[in-house]
Amino acid sequence: MSQSTQVRKIDVETIRQDFPILGREVNGYPLIYFDNAATAQTPKQVMDAIVDYYSNYNANIHRGVHALSQEATDKYEQARIKIQQHFNAEHAHEIIMTSGTTHGINLVANGFSSLLKSGDEILVSAMEHHSNIVPWQMLAEKTGAKLKVIPMNEKGELILDEYRNLISDRTKLVFVNHVSNALGTVNPVKEIIDIAHEAGAAVLIDGAQASPHIKADVQELDVDFYVVSAHKMCGPTGVGMLYGKQEWLEKLPPYQGGGEMIATVSFEKTTYAGLPHKFEAGTPNICGGIAFGAALDYMNSIGFEEIASYEDELLQYATSRLKEIEGMKIYGEAEEKTAVISFNVEGLHPYDIGTLLDKMGIAVRTGHHCAQPVMDFFKIPGTVRASFAFYNTKEEIDTFMEALKKALMMLQ
Ligand SMILES: *Cc1c(COP(=O)(O)O)cnc(C)c1O
Repeated sequence: MSQSTQVRKIDVETIRQDFPILGREVNGYPLIYFDNAATAQTPKQVMDAIVDYYSNYNANIHRGVHALSQEATDKYEQARIKIQQHFNAEHAHEIIMTSGTTHGINLVANGFSSLLKSGDEILVSAMEHHSNIVPWQMLAEKTGAKLKVIPMNEKGELILDEYRNLISDRTKLVFVNHVSNALGTVNPVKEIIDIAHEAGAAVLIDGAQASPHIKADVQELDVDFYVVSAHKMCGPTGVGMLYGKQEWLEKLPPYQGGGEMIATVSFEKTTYAGLPHKFEAGTPNICGGIAFGAALDYMNSIGFEEIASYEDELLQYATSRLKEIEGMKIYGEAEEKTAVISFNVEGLHPYDIGTLLDKMGIAVRTGHHCAQPVMDFFKIPGTVRASFAFYNTKEEIDTFMEALKKALMMLQ
């Protein structure tokens, strides 16, 4: 690598100052937060945006003529444009504000219930979060469409040859996560999308787990739908976005009826508002949307290449250190991975390990991670999952390793 193309190193110590929570103690130990795949921590900059909203311009949007309402509307629509620019959507009205990934997926699944018929096929991957499985099962039940599964291999990678065999002119929709929250696998979404499009199928990518690490470009991917949650990328819970290509969003019927999504209402007939309002019934999470915009500003000020490169260092370091442990089994060894490590230690229950780590101030996740089919594939009830963010450090990994070794001694 030449000097000029080298990725700038991030200044972790300065960044950590932005996250007050990282200074607290848990059970008498300094908190080590390794549950970033479940939700990321919130920097001061995002909290400031929330306080500013409630302190200065809390009002309902799109309706009022008064100053507060107009300020709130402007800020909310600016946030939509930040999201549009971040994901490089062609139009701001292709960004639908949602309550999160789950909402976005349900919106699309509900819309397709009027477009699918018995005999149609929809494809899901073997490594999905329940929120990218259950809405499609409900859709399949309603329409008679058949749900088929793209299998994965022992390393936790999708088998693309099998995918090519599954896809046909009966396939109407393919939905795959960009990154698996249970395994960390980065899926080859561009290839998946191209193969689907050749067969005439649309594609929804669940970007919830990718968005904190990878800046997706929806136009370059040529994806039909892309969904994320703000809380995985340093924003608040209860807000997210659905990107949909304009032609698709025009084709899909509205999801919920209510205020804001209509053009005219009478008891005889209601006509719907244009995009994006057609899909945004009711008063939205105004403050949350604005804070989502602030979270994107914050992450972009650090830089996604910088974040990815630093987190990869943490991933490599933690992986090699974990392998020091006898009986260690890591699930998910794909070539392309984000900083998520799912593991078990032979003979021990993940829950016991997680509980002892918590006693030493370390937050990891244990269980099936809302991905039971992945656990079934490996024939395990669950794993311990450590997931890192750009504000974690190698020193924290060292402390985690000592605590883990202590926990294993107590359990073995
Ligand atoms: C977190 C996550 C979801 C669910 O996100 P919500 O914010 O709970 O709607 C879906 N898919 C993946 C891959 C995730 O990591």
